[in-house]
Amino acid sequence: IFSKPTPVYSEKIFPSLGTVIRVNLAGDKVSSDVLINIAEKEFLRIHNKYSPNVQDSLVSILNQNGTVTVDEEALFLFQSAYNYAALTGGAFDPTVRPLIKLWGFDDEFSTKRVPTQEEINEALSYVDYRFIDIDKDNMQVSLLKEGVEVDLGAIAKGYAVDLVIQRIREVDPKATGFIDAGGDIGIIGPKFKELAWVIGIRDPFSDEYFTSIDTIYLTNGGVATSGNYERYFISDGIKYHHIIDPQTGYPATGAVSVTVISENVMIADVFSTALFVLGYDNPALEHFTDFGIQALVISPTGESTETSGFDYFREKIK
Ligand code: ADP
Ligand code: MG
Ligand code: MG
Repeated sequence: IFSKPTPVYSEKIFPSLGTVIRVNLAGDKVSSDVLINIAEKEFLRIHNKYSPNVQDSLVSILNQNGTVTVDEEALFLFQSAYNYAALTGGAFDPTVRPLIKLWGFDDEFSTKRVPTQEEINEALSYVDYRFIDIDKDNMQVSLLKEGVEVDLGAIAKGYAVDLVIQRIREVDPKATGFIDAGGDIGIIGPKFKELAWVIGIRDPFSDEYFTSIDTIYLTNGGVATSGNYERYFISDGIKYHHIIDPQTGYPATGAVSVTVISENVMIADVFSTALFVLGYDNPALEHFTDFGIQALVISPTGESTETSGFDYFREKIK
């Protein structure tokens, strides 16, 4: 009788992309540590290439000079951001950065305060994804108006997780585990090669990190949650968080938590932000399943709506 060796999981937690990354992996062909190393290096590379807070990143060059030369990968990421902005009617908008800076959510050290309506109106005049011009032939991304600034914060983490999973699969096709980039989670095969991973959805009304309101089970693909508890400040008893409605310039008020399940973590990431902005009372929610997603939206009063296929993932036995 040949018994298969049980996968041995190793975990590492490290900061990257402005959040805490948690990787939990068991190698099959190579050791878990080799895979963790790949993950760490790839996150660092993505951070240095796209963070608007890294001096010479592509995004910083674009924001400073109004134009930047891109490679195939960056072209894909900018083009994806543009396309999803169009598909969500600008609910997800990568030019939201002037507003993010105004509210102080660009950096943990920035002063967080409620801006004046005048300041918001001024910043709003620079927010529109159609100010981004993508020239494929010349591999050039440009901004069509002075003062426009790009922030890929709501798509880059999901993209990075997809990329890390792809790299791990290339090196070790039978590896299993998960990658959690601050709520953007990618699953690599079943736990111990036979069990679904249990993913708790955090209770947005609780201060406890580990209190969950719902549980889903996945053996593959991705899930992303955008919550009003990630980054926020309180002023005069009102909570102001980091997901901004590009229409009003204020933190979106129509939801407190959105969880999106998709094959692809980048898509889950984008739609968790977009559906957060579109809010609980969204008659078009079911239509978004056309993009290969299922979603759960929780309203500020604790009601929830979900797409028809979401419940399937609450089922433990697959
Ligand atoms: P998290 O960063 O907690 O995963 P999201 O995926 O929803 O949450 O991304 C939020 C980040 O994206 C913000 O920190 C900000 O940089 C940027 N952002 C905020 N509002 C929007 C928006 N409407 N469209 C695109 N990006 C946004
Ligand atoms: Mg997101
Ligand atoms: Mg995210």
